[in-house]
Amino acid sequence: MKFCSLYSGSSGNCQYIKTDNATILIDAGLSGKKIQQEIVNIGEDPKKIDAIFITHEHIDHVQGAGIMSRRLNVPIYANRETWEAMSAVIGDIKTENIKIFDDCAEIGDLTIIPFDISHDSAHPVGYNVFCKNKKISLVTDTGCVNDLIISSIMDSDILLIESNHDEDMVLIGPYPWPLKRRVLGEYGHMSNDTAGELISKVIKKGKEIVFLGHLSKENNFPQLAYKTVENILKENSIEVNPGVCLEMTYRDRASKFYEI
Ligand SMILES: [Zn+2]
Ligand SMILES: [Zn+2]
Repeated sequence: MKFCSLYSGSSGNCQYIKTDNATILIDAGLSGKKIQQEIVNIGEDPKKIDAIFITHEHIDHVQGAGIMSRRLNVPIYANRETWEAMSAVIGDIKTENIKIFDDCAEIGDLTIIPFDISHDSAHPVGYNVFCKNKKISLVTDTGCVNDLIISSIMDSDILLIESNHDEDMVLIGPYPWPLKRRVLGEYGHMSNDTAGELISKVIKKGKEIVFLGHLSKENNFPQLAYKTVENILKENSIEVNPGVCLEMTYRDRASKFYEI
């Protein structure tokens, strides 16, 4: 199984997962043109996409989903509440490409299973993607971490974990108070500290590949997110590089492309 974050951040999200006989996107939150361009940039073929899975209806996750479905004749998978909330935004989709699912989907040799997270949208989810004995977990856009999230992402080989903001930067930053409260609240986003603590809880083998994602432009710096998480892992006696492979994702370009 191969994984690459094409884009990640509050300005748009799109993750790429591929095996020998299946290719999927998780979210398509930039223009169709930008997403297709980045797929070409990593040496892959946009025409090979078999399905797009949506985590929730916010524009930074669905902006290009409709256009890509229409252009490439690709099905979109999401739960019923997310479909209802995003339909007006993504435009008309061919009936056969509307896939409403709650529990499990199979695309080629991939099995995709959603789990609930905590965010201010209709029915937000994270995803586990399985192929043979390998597992990739993606969790962004959650204001709190609960036992369900922790148990869902245990034993993953690759994790994409939201490291949205530094709490102090949010508090002293330019956002108006209601927005600060939203970001920091139970239905907002995960901080660098929360990401570090969550990752520490789910690392088992010590060789996992962990991507930090969905960084805020206003309330974080890549180096601050990286160092904060690295320090928390080390405090929990988890070795990093070598050991756990801690990687960044980027708002404007693809991450490293890993194969497991
Ligand atoms: Zn969101
Ligand atoms: Zn988002």
